[in-house]
Amino acid sequence: MVKFINVSKRYPNGVLALSSVNLTIEKGEFVFIVGSSGAGKSTLVKLLLKEIEPTEGEIIVGEYNLNKLSKREIPYYRRKIGIVFQDFRLLPNKTVYENVEFAMQITGAPSKLIRRQVPFVLSLVGLAHKAKCYPHELSGGEQQRVALARAIVNKPSLLVADEPTGNLDPDTSWEIMRLLEDINKRGTTVLVATHAKEIVDSMRKRVVAIDNGRIVKDQPKGVYSYET
Ligand code: ADP
Ligand code: ADP
Repeated sequence: MVKFINVSKRYPNGVLALSSVNLTIEKGEFVFIVGSSGAGKSTLVKLLLKEIEPTEGEIIVGEYNLNKLSKREIPYYRRKIGIVFQDFRLLPNKTVYENVEFAMQITGAPSKLIRRQVPFVLSLVGLAHKAKCYPHELSGGEQQRVALARAIVNKPSLLVADEPTGNLDPDTSWEIMRLLEDINKRGTTVLVATHAKEIVDSMRKRVVAIDNGRIVKDQPKGVYSYET
C-alpha cells in the first residue's frame, strides 16, 4: 500500500529531516509513527501527501509512484487518501453535515449516493445528532470526529492522521484512537503520527519510531519506547 524506498529529505536550509528511510506498509495495517518533536514525522506525512518532494528515493502509494505524479494528477491523488490534522481544519461556515457532504461533492459523487453516505459516516463517528451544528458549537473531540467522517466519506484505502489527538484531552484522545481502530477494522489502512505515548503503549499496534530522521525501531504490537 505504502512504500518508502531509500527516502531522504533535505530542506533548503540544509536540515536533513529524513535520512534513507525504508518503510513498507501493507494494505489493512494500522501503524503508529512516533518520535520526539523534530524527529521527522511531519516531513514523512508531507512527503506522503506530496506537499513536498524527496531529495532522494521513491515513494509508492497504492498504484501511484509519487515521483512520477504530474501536477495535474496531484489533486486526484490526494482525494484518494483520507487526511486528519491536529487542528481539525473544518469549514467554519458549513454545518457538520455540509462539511462532510462537501468532501463528497467535490469528487463529483451522485447526490443519491451522497444522501446515503453522509448520514452513514456521521453515525459511524457517533455524530448523527449533531448534523445541523456548526463547528464552533462542538467540542474539540466532536470536531475531530467530523474531520474523521469527512476523511472516510469517499472510502479511501489509506487514512493518514497527523497528531490527531494533539489538541484533545486524554479521554477524548482515546475516543478518537478507538474510532481510528474501528475504521481500520473496516478495511482502511491507517497511519497515525503521534506523541500519545500511553495510548500507543496500550493499543499494541505496529510502531515505527523515528529519531533524527532515521527509523530507529519498527515493531509489530510495539510500544512507544523502552525509556521511562
Ligand atoms: P516532527 O514532525 O517529528 O516534529 P518535522 O518533520 O517537522 O518533525 O521536522 C524534522 C526536522 O526538519 C526538524 O529539524 C525541523 O526543524 C526541520 N524542518 C521541518 N520543516 C522544515 C522546513 N520547512 N524548512 C526547514 N527545516 C524544516
Ligand atoms: P450495507 O447495509 O449496505 O451492508 P453499510 O451499512 O455497511 O452497508 O454501509 C452503508 C454505506 O456506507 C454503503 O454505501 C457502504 O459501502 C458504505 N460504507 C461502509 N463502510 C464504510 C466505511 N468504512 N467508510 C465509508 N463508507 C463505508
